[in-house]
Amino acid sequence: MVNGTSEDTLEPLIREIGGQLYRDAVQAPPALFGAGGVRGALLQKALADERMRTALFQFIDVLPQLDGAGEIADHYGAYLQGHELAGMWGRLLKLGSRPALAWAVRANVARTARLFLVEERESPVRSTLATLAAGGALATLDAVGEAVLTEAEAEAYVGRYLELVRWQHAAGVAPHLSLKLSALTPRFDPLDAAGAEQRVLARLAPLLAEVARARAALTVDMEHYELKPLVLRIFRALVDAHPGRGWLPGIALQSYLPETGRDLAGLIEWARARGHRIGVRLVKGAYWDTEVAVARQRRWPVPVYETKEETDAAFERLTRVLLENRDTVHAAIASHNLRSLAHAAALAQRLGAKREDWEIQVLYGMAGPLQHALAGMNLPLRVYVPTGDLVVGIAYLIRRLLENTASTSVLRQTYADGEDIGALLAVPAPPPASGATARPTEPAFANTPLTDFSRTADREAFARALAKVRGELGARYPLAIPGAPGPAAPEQRALNPARPDETLGQVELAARSHAERALANAVAAFPGWRDTPVERRVECALRAAGIMLERRAELAAWQVLEQGKNWREADADVAEAIDYLRYYAAEAAALGGWRPTQRFPGELNHTRYEPRGVAVVIAPWNFPLAILTGMTSAALVTGNCAVMKPAAPALIVAHKLHALLIAAGFPPEVCQLVAGRGAEIGNFLVGHPQVHVIAFTGSREVGLAILEQAGRSVTGQSHVKRVVCEMGGKNAIIVDEDADLDEAVAHTLQSAFGYQGQKCSACSRLIAVGRVHDRLVARLGAALDAHPYGPPEDPQYVFGPVITRAAQEKALAYIETGKREGRLSYLGKVPGEGYYVPPAIFTGIEPRHRLAREEIFGPVLAVLRAESFDEALAVALDSEYALTGGVFSRFPEHLEAARERFRVGDLYLNRRITGALVAAQPFGGVRLSGTGVQAGGADYLKQFVWSRVVSENTMRHGFVP
Ligand code: NAD
Repeated sequence: MVNGTSEDTLEPLIREIGGQLYRDAVQAPPALFGAGGVRGALLQKALADERMRTALFQFIDVLPQLDGAGEIADHYGAYLQGHELAGMWGRLLKLGSRPALAWAVRANVARTARLFLVEERESPVRSTLATLAAGGALATLDAVGEAVLTEAEAEAYVGRYLELVRWQHAAGVAPHLSLKLSALTPRFDPLDAAGAEQRVLARLAPLLAEVARARAALTVDMEHYELKPLVLRIFRALVDAHPGRGWLPGIALQSYLPETGRDLAGLIEWARARGHRIGVRLVKGAYWDTEVAVARQRRWPVPVYETKEETDAAFERLTRVLLENRDTVHAAIASHNLRSLAHAAALAQRLGAKREDWEIQVLYGMAGPLQHALAGMNLPLRVYVPTGDLVVGIAYLIRRLLENTASTSVLRQTYADGEDIGALLAVPAPPPASGATARPTEPAFANTPLTDFSRTADREAFARALAKVRGELGARYPLAIPGAPGPAAPEQRALNPARPDETLGQVELAARSHAERALANAVAAFPGWRDTPVERRVECALRAAGIMLERRAELAAWQVLEQGKNWREADADVAEAIDYLRYYAAEAAALGGWRPTQRFPGELNHTRYEPRGVAVVIAPWNFPLAILTGMTSAALVTGNCAVMKPAAPALIVAHKLHALLIAAGFPPEVCQLVAGRGAEIGNFLVGHPQVHVIAFTGSREVGLAILEQAGRSVTGQSHVKRVVCEMGGKNAIIVDEDADLDEAVAHTLQSAFGYQGQKCSACSRLIAVGRVHDRLVARLGAALDAHPYGPPEDPQYVFGPVITRAAQEKALAYIETGKREGRLSYLGKVPGEGYYVPPAIFTGIEPRHRLAREEIFGPVLAVLRAESFDEALAVALDSEYALTGGVFSRFPEHLEAARERFRVGDLYLNRRITGALVAAQPFGGVRLSGTGVQAGGADYLKQFVWSRVVSENTMRHGFVP
């Protein structure tokens, strides 16, 4: 360390610079805090009341999309009424809920937005640049936008930057831009890092040529943590492709990530080795809340420091690294924190950094007085200026408002809370490690985390698993029924739906005699398994979960080949299977043993659950591991013997599961696999007199037939059969007029077309309320068009084939029906080889049409119109099915109405309607979708047991113990 620049000796200088900044800056508050009128009153209130803050921001979030005074007034009332606002402002604000004054409220919010967001036209941009220059500051321009879901939106984004370069030129300033790489392609997916890199570089090429010619600077913004490896990778690739001589390539790094130290060291080493000069904008990080919530939801490690002090301390360490490496890096210290800025200025001075070596950056509109103070001290200063339209800039505005009013915000501390200078300039000292932040308590059951494919190591492991599985293609899968007579029935070729000529394996199919034998084995094994302590059964299930976890990549890889699932969907299926094993194990342990019933004097009354006997498990192919595992493990842990009858297109995965359950310790007679044709072997098993439980998941047609058949008693049957029955769906998503369209489009796309629409939970009816229809449909089609179809083994393909030729033909026939019933609004393109169905969107569909009533189980979406939300609800409920449903709305009353009246098994508000998690979202429907007891929920196991009671009279000759 250079003498005299150690952190200790720096403190007096930091206090001197910080003191001066403070004196110069606190004289006038920034515009936001100085506001009078309605805005000032609202803000003051929001600062004081956390609930009001949330309500206010939710209202502002939806505001730009509201059309008409009545709508504004309704939303205003819904969000803000009930918050007591005192005095004159309170009375005035109440008027906001009157249509006549609604526009005034909106104008006020627009004016607030314009404090932070410059209108994206040449003259406002140029006048902003001129004002900044007069105040001694430079600018970097950022085109704020909505989520990029289509190629056209990505192209338009680059076009906006070309304009910004032109306007800066015209204003006589060196162009300086900040952009988000994720906005350059709708497929910015870490899973397909190479493809994303290629698309981003191609899209950026014309802008980079312009930037190099203009000797400009372009900084790549950092985004959510999951995207960081991809952002870093593409940044390096673009600098290597356009070596930064003459122009300055830059990247933003976030000090709230402990990993940033390592990232920065890597970047400096790389830049120095290649002879690049790069810029680094050091920020604290803008997505703290989201990073914490997302990590906790996914059960991934929380990637950010948990306290602000740690982030602040890291910021100072990173500032030092940047300034000490100024031969290679141009540092942009981006903060409004007096201490952080004073520290950087003091260090730059001590290290002898020149004016052109570094700069301070502040956000436009956030800290006007601070900006003047910095310029007044002749510190190099640049202002980050977002430009854009009010509607699309709203997310940006909310972030700024949140930042300004958060209790940890230094601006709030300085201007609203009036904190003193000593506290503001104190050395950031992380609090003692333990117990500093309250962590949410862990739930008793925790879902298996999904694989984080943004990590290279995880992607490589999955690719290795695919290669391993490929090495095992063509194997034979013989019947494994203990004592089964030979020779076996014919074999079935397991094939890859993306390349039907490819044989994955040869699977022996059971004949009736094999099935008969399997049932006899099960009947004989039942008493022993029933009397096995529940702890042993639970142990086997947990061991199976452990083996699955170890082999998860391989089990998922099989699904990529046998069911045409993409990497993420396949990985999620294995995670769900593990969840079922663990969850039902825990539930079974809790159900086991004798329990007292209600007290009754003179008697001992106890109850206990008993397994029913032999359970036949008939599963579909679409969640080949999860559903088969779920139903089978439920039967086994409760003490039943299971005979698995998997679906024909999922036999290899079923074999893998069976082998794994046996390896985990389930006895071979207790857990058997009978691969055979549904109509023959399935039917035979259902009708057999020795079967007690039929656990079925599949189509309505087969499910109803099973219910009927199981209801008929046959010769030799001496019990009532119990049918657990989960069937299909015709699920609807309602998109309300005020919905967030970015979210509605992205989530509907996933819900309707994820795994080619072959999920029971998939959305197949989209109900658009009022004026939202046209834009929703147009964006959905364009968003879908951004994704090519192909073999999902290649991670660039999110969408693949459907399962069989029959499924393909069925979906294609529905597309023809759709053309007759409605209007084809979008039809995708798919490869010729393989069982592909082009994704299709139909508009003009009416509730009576077949497209609105029948389950298609393919990538075909019917769009219906409704004039009002009430009508939309009625249309949604007009179905024989009731499995899942969804609503996108920002009107609390509508969400509440849906909660009360949209009666389906699983209703999702403002999120996708697929991907239910065991325990968190127990899954299953009613009407002709199922019997109403949900899998992965507390009541499920009870279907596999019966309860019996023992009463003992304890009175003996008048003696009552
Ligand atoms: P399917 O009904 O054709 O087959 C399901 C299972 O039943 C297979 O194992 C099949 O071999 C067997 N089977 C077929 N005919 C039989 C018969 N006569 N007797 C006994 N068994 C018979 O369904 P699928 O194509 O495998 O799966 C898709 C269907 O499953 C869709 O309708 C979907 O909505 C539904 N599904 C529902 C849920 C849910 O939880 N509600 C989950 C997944 C799938």
